[in-house]
Formats: sequence, structure tokens, C-alpha cells
Amino acid sequence: MQKRVAWVTGGTGGIGTAICRSLADAGYQVVAGYSNPEKASAWQQEQKAAGYEIGISYADVTDFESVTKSYQEIQQQFGPVSVLVNNAGITRDGMLKKMTPEQWHAVVSTNLDSVFNTSRACLDGMLEQQYGRIVNISSINGEKGQMGQTNYSAAKAGMHGFTMALAQETARKGITVNTISPGYIATDMIMKIEEKIRDSIRAQIPVGRFGEPEDIARIVVFLADEASSFITGANISANGGQFIHA
Ligand code: NDP
Repeated sequence: MQKRVAWVTGGTGGIGTAICRSLADAGYQVVAGYSNPEKASAWQQEQKAAGYEIGISYADVTDFESVTKSYQEIQQQFGPVSVLVNNAGITRDGMLKKMTPEQWHAVVSTNLDSVFNTSRACLDGMLEQQYGRIVNISSINGEKGQMGQTNYSAAKAGMHGFTMALAQETARKGITVNTISPGYIATDMIMKIEEKIRDSIRAQIPVGRFGEPEDIARIVVFLADEASSFITGANISANGGQFIHA
């Protein structure tokens, strides 16, 4: 049987790499989306050296045309996408008082417009297959809000609304749509925060450690599985107990 195709945006990043590898281990043909070509081919070689044959495809996730083109290339080379992981994301922090329109738009379009762009590109193929899994990587800060991140908190919270609405549109078509909200995960995004602040963040995490990218990747594999068909429109928080809610 042909392998199901999984497209992971931001696949060459910290959490993205773990997601790509875990999905490959689970038997998917994985394609990592990237926007930085300098990083991507070296990344692909690294994966190959570690025994992972992972495809790569360029798309600026903020740009509908670019995403559509990437989807078409992936479909031509590997087949229609069955699993879409919306993982690409950026932060441009600042208190609202000083936030520029550029900071606002960059974050909203990379974290949220992207989800529309990729889901729109994949949906026809998923409807045709009568099968699909869309997993959106949101954030604890989209659940509780975070000072200095009105842009990021708004975009990540928007992913929940998108997830709940699309889940209802696709529920009868074999397509599930879910969100994962990671807490603080030890990737470059977090490690570039000043050490003193990082230590104070760690102190607020009840399990006493930052998450590892694999903590998130395991949930993606679970939600991507055929056996998870009864879970849709859900949000799974994975934050070491930092934000506990019903
Ligand atoms: P990284 O910075 O390591 O990875 C982010 C990825 O997004 C990069 O691979 C980058 O690709 C991609 N990306 C950025 N802009 C674009 C764009 N315009 N078009 C296409 N791709 C783009 O971050 P993480 O691995 O830490 O984060 C992954 C996801 O998890 C993000 O959505 C983040 O918000 C979320 N998250 C992370 C947490 C953490 O603690 N690390 C906590 C909660 C949520 P390229 O380099 O090719 O541009």
C-alpha cells in the first residue's frame, strides 16, 4: 500500500523536525515545508544521514499562491496530502503600546493566515480521499494570553476558532481537525530568551522542566492516526501543568 502523505509546515524547525521524524517512524511519507532555502537542503541531508527520507517543499505560508504551488508540487511528487500539520510560526513580541503594524501583521499572517492557506489547499484532496487529519500547533499563550504577545496570543487563539469551525464542516467526510497547545518547549524559540527569564518560566512549570519537541510530536502522531477518528474540534494542552483548565 502507498504511504499516506503528511505535510508539516515549519518542518525544518525545532518542533517540526521531531514531528517529521515521528510521522516518518509511524510510516508516513513526510514532506517538510520551509521558507528558508539555505537551511532546508542541509536539514534534509541531516535527516538522510540519520536514516530519514523526508521530502522538502518551499512555501511562504503567509502567501496563498506560494502555498497552493507547494501543494501542487507535493501532490505531483508524492500524492494528495492526508495529514496536514500547521506548525510554522513566529513571534515578534512587544507591549501593545509600542507594537508596530508590521509586528502585528507578520505574526498574525504567519501563525493564522497560514492555516487558512494550507487547509484550503489540502481540503479538496482530503474530501476526495474521504480522509484527512489537520493538526494545528497553537500555544499555551493562545489559551491564556501572554503579556507582550497580543499578536501571538490573538493568532494562536484564532487557531482554536478555525479548528472548531472546520471540524464541524468536515466531520462527516472522514476529516478531523484538532489543535495542540504546547507550553514552553526547549527549541531555539525558547532558548533565545534571556537565561534569567527562562529560569523564571521554568519555575512556573509544575512538572519542573521545559517540554521536549518529542512531547508534541507524539500527540501529532496520535491525532494523525486512523484510530483517532472520534476526536475532532478538540484542543490538547501539553504544558507540564502550567495552565490547567477544563
Ligand atoms: P522554530 O522557530 O524552530 O520553527 C518555526 C518554523 O516556522 C521554522 O521552521 C520556519 O521555517 C517556519 N516559518 C516561519 N515563517 C515562515 C513562513 N513565512 N513560511 C513558511 N515557514 C515559516 O519554532 P518551534 O519549533 O519552537 O515552533 C513550532 C511551532 O510551535 C510554532 O507554531 C510555535 O508558535 C509553536 N509553539 C512553540 C512553543 C515553544 O516553546 N517552542 C510553545 C508553543 C507553541 P524557515 O526557517 O524555513 O523559515
